[in-house]
Amino acid sequence: MMLLFLLKPFLMTKFIIHYSLHFLAPLLIAYWFFNKNWKTVYLVFLFSMLVDVDHFLANPIFEENRCSINFHPLHSYIACGVYFLGLFFKKTRVIAIALLFHMLTDFIDCYL
Ligand SMILES: [Zn+2]
Repeated sequence: MMLLFLLKPFLMTKFIIHYSLHFLAPLLIAYWFFNKNWKTVYLVFLFSMLVDVDHFLANPIFEENRCSINFHPLHSYIACGVYFLGLFFKKTRVIAIALLFHMLTDFIDCYL
């Protein structure tokens, strides 16, 4: 009980870091690099969060300290390779950046 109490601020910080990376950082990236199309780019970033649907394949769906990377199929290194290839095509570039950024965010999470 005491331990949980001590960990609570830490978990909250982790939560804030995670969601600011998922929502705020894409906004900054979109605005910085794609200023004219920032709204579209930001929407793509938000939609890229749909890759988290693969979490529904897992049991349990959510687990506090589980690392998503290489656990869920759309978060595997193979999937990351596919997203990386997307960088080379103009049509898929933005979604590829968004997905890779998502993977990076989840990856950082594994070490917090
Ligand atoms: Zn994820």
